[in-house]
Amino acid sequence: MDVIRCLKDQRILKLFEKANKITLSEHGDIITLERAIFLSWWCEMGDCAFCYMSTQKPLIKDPKKARRNVNAILAEAEICKRIGWNIEFLSGGYKSFTTTEIKHIAKSIKDITGSPVWLNIGITKDLEEYGDEIEGITGAIETANPRLQEKLCPSKPINQIVEMLELAEELGFKKAITIILGVGETIEDLEHLFKLIDNLKLDRIIFYSLNPHKGTIFEDTPQPPSLYYAGIVAATRIKFPKIKIITGTWIDNLANIGPLILAGANGLTKFPLFKMFGTRYGKRVEEEVKWSGRKLKGTFTDHQKLLKGEADEKLKPFIKRYIDMCLKKSYTLTQ
Ligand code: SF4
Repeated sequence: MDVIRCLKDQRILKLFEKANKITLSEHGDIITLERAIFLSWWCEMGDCAFCYMSTQKPLIKDPKKARRNVNAILAEAEICKRIGWNIEFLSGGYKSFTTTEIKHIAKSIKDITGSPVWLNIGITKDLEEYGDEIEGITGAIETANPRLQEKLCPSKPINQIVEMLELAEELGFKKAITIILGVGETIEDLEHLFKLIDNLKLDRIIFYSLNPHKGTIFEDTPQPPSLYYAGIVAATRIKFPKIKIITGTWIDNLANIGPLILAGANGLTKFPLFKMFGTRYGKRVEEEVKWSGRKLKGTFTDHQKLLKGEADEKLKPFIKRYIDMCLKKSYTLTQ
């Protein structure tokens, strides 16, 4: 099947049908909830055209000050374990934390959740130090067309990301990339994307849709159409039956979830967990998964799960803070 042709002709249902069959036979019917845990509120690049961080960089003078308290990071991991969410990756942190510190945090998270973590910490060659606390390395390529990528992400050249992922391969780590849709790419750019997935033998791909942040060049740009987004995911699924696909959906676009699952998504991400947990929005995510004929691993609503678990004394105040955030939200919404 020529998926690019199919997409151009907007034969989306045909793509869905095939992608859904492939997904069920290759991956089964479980859908995961994924949480990116941020290490810092700092990015050393800070100049990607679509990114919220690019609007914040002038406000943060010292990267060390943007570090999150490590206990807050670990408390988030504990919450994820309790409610059955995966940690999508540890994000940010490069130049805020040293490699040794990031390794230590990853190890502590592995001790909590029992699983190694993915990293998405920028372009780095310092991968040798990592060991079995790390599952894989994510390259935030964002868009696969090299010319567009250069324009949108001037400080993270695609070739350097590719080199990092090649090194990750040599060291035995899994590899992933992130792609944002709706930033000016064309359907033909799928050729570039498919080549990247092929050449790098990627284990997973994370798709996001543009979130038009105020203060960026995209603030008045609409988010990509739901069937375009799902169509790209379906085309990718058909071309790469085994790859894990995670798709991001913002709270204002929850209706994307059903089509994205039918298109081949294995996991869902980009939710403001503490704002949404236990609310009708969290329930909506669960319903979207159910109506796609899938089973959700983890919960977006079960307070009992949130409350159950042991933790190190120093993490307890942070865990309590996150639980309070979840409980207050659902309390407010039931008033
Ligand atoms: S997309 Fe990533 S690298 Fe680019 S400015 Fe945002 S946080 Fe930094």
